[in-house]
Amino acid sequence: MRPIGMIGGMSWESTREYYRILNETMRTRRGGFHSAPLILYSVDFAEIEALQQQAKWQEIARLLVDAARRVEAAGSCCVLLCTNTMHKLADDIQAHLGVPLLHIADATGQKIQAQGLATVGLLGTRVTMEEDFYVGRLSQNYGLKVLVPSEEERELVHRVIYHELCMGEIRPSSRAHYTTIIERLVEHGAEGIVLGCTEIGLLVRPEDSPVPLFDTTEIHAVAAVDYILDNASFIPEPGDA
Ligand code: GLU
Repeated sequence: MRPIGMIGGMSWESTREYYRILNETMRTRRGGFHSAPLILYSVDFAEIEALQQQAKWQEIARLLVDAARRVEAAGSCCVLLCTNTMHKLADDIQAHLGVPLLHIADATGQKIQAQGLATVGLLGTRVTMEEDFYVGRLSQNYGLKVLVPSEEERELVHRVIYHELCMGEIRPSSRAHYTTIIERLVEHGAEGIVLGCTEIGLLVRPEDSPVPLFDTTEIHAVAAVDYILDNASFIPEPGDA
């Protein structure tokens, strides 16, 4: 079975969740000692975050394309970009790859569609909540109405992600703020909440929400395991150990 390629480190707090979920899912699906074959390229997030602040997206694209090509060259059958925000550059990255980049919004849209929901609330970084690459993909490809928090609430959600969650800090006070924001989205019609940032699942738990949560970290990792199992023949390929 060819490995899953991962571009991680954005932040590593969520990449280790990917690692756990990928392996747990593979063990659940195949049993015994099975675990997920993986190739991880983990970036230095300080470099990426500094470029984000300066809106140097093409510089970031260059770094992520380089990372993606390395994991492809190492034998991956698909690539996971382990962050919602950087899917802003998904098309650039995919254009340089010969294997599929499994898009986090597609995995999430399919999961929501399968549960028959029409309206969801979205929490994530400002880029994810405010630009079209994510909200537009969910609405155009999956027919979803996507609600985002108010300007002031988006600022809070964004700040907690970078200043707390990406630094490994989980604060009950921030969980309470997120819960209030979720409740407001539900009042406006959200039937589910997309945790559209790979660290939010570290803070918000199912019991903090009156409606189902769609944790993109978990959905993306499980989709990758499904992808490699669907595409594996279980006959060793040349080079497989
Ligand atoms: N992990 C985050 C996300 O899923 C934010 C970090 C980043 O890539 O900027 O959007």
